Amino acid sequence: MKNLIVQKMKLAGLVLGMGMAFISCEKNPITLVLHSPIYPSGSQAVTYTAERVTDGSINTAKLYETVNTINSSGTITSAGTETLLQTWNNPGGDLSFVKPNGHGDNKLVTYRWVFTTPDQTKSFKVTYATRPYAVSGMPAPVYAQGDPDDVFDLVLIPDTDITNLNTFYNHCSGVIRESFFDEPHTRYWRRQYNFYINTERGHATDYDSRDVDGPHQLPSNNANLSFAEGRALMHQNDLRDWASGGVFSSEMQNRGTVMHEAGHALYDLADEYGSGSHWQEDEVPNNWSSLANAQAAASGYGNCKETSDAVEMGSSGWYHLCVSNCQMVTTGLNHTEYDCPCKSRITYVVFDNASN
Ligand SMILES: [Zn+2]
Repeated sequence: MKNLIVQKMKLAGLVLGMGMAFISCEKNPITLVLHSPIYPSGSQAVTYTAERVTDGSINTAKLYETVNTINSSGTITSAGTETLLQTWNNPGGDLSFVKPNGHGDNKLVTYRWVFTTPDQTKSFKVTYATRPYAVSGMPAPVYAQGDPDDVFDLVLIPDTDITNLNTFYNHCSGVIRESFFDEPHTRYWRRQYNFYINTERGHATDYDSRDVDGPHQLPSNNANLSFAEGRALMHQNDLRDWASGGVFSSEMQNRGTVMHEAGHALYDLADEYGSGSHWQEDEVPNNWSSLANAQAAASGYGNCKETSDAVEMGSSGWYHLCVSNCQMVTTGLNHTEYDCPCKSRITYVVFDNASN
């Protein structure tokens, strides 16, 4: 078992060592495929978009859709066939297609984009449920791409303090597009995420009021969420947010807080500010327990880090190598970026998650 872990670490290290060569495997244009609303009712129109976030030619784009009917156990009772919705030849700009009449109740919809570019053909396949979700007690997939055993599963849970669920749904879409699909490293790994919306609500408590208010209050179906690496309590009121055991809280509009807390919940990244939570992971850490350890690690990130980048975080007695605005330093409305040591840990956990 230990050997396997070491092999995986080496694999991750090899990938990281290749740096830009590996990153460039996806040829331009980088495209982000999304649907809106993210969690449509059975009667709502759905808009599919392919957003070009880097320049580059597309020779052909095709959009397909499959609509399955499911029952309350999640069994497919009527399987749809994949249908071509539209073909674009030599399109410019962003692409969109509107499915005007909704898909009906108790549906699981899968859409697939295929882009043929001068350099490669790539496809993206996404599954979402219509609202209300047919499967009782389970979170609705709203942007699912892979086997839950192989990718990160993040369940977005509405807090009891949210007054308008449509606002919450819009922010769930924002978590996908404006956090995970916007920060460069998680965008690079964007196929490695499944996002869900929970029907049952939870309630986040303030980190500084835990003595009085206790821990985060979990939704009544929490036992059904154990498959998910991350459970996010998305709330409306201002709190000091925190993460524990894969559960974290965030103001629903705060793209930076989500990325920071997901850093803890999904990748076991430690805090990089002086008064935070510090520990040193056995493999690919982002905190070190001594200056010497941090300095020794600096050479593991190519040209990204030097020995002199190792600094103490406040007067914590712990050390890091990342820049002062690394996402594990900051929270708030806007995300920053994960610096090299954090990126390396994320890549390591992506491989570990996919191969376990
Ligand atoms: Zn960092």
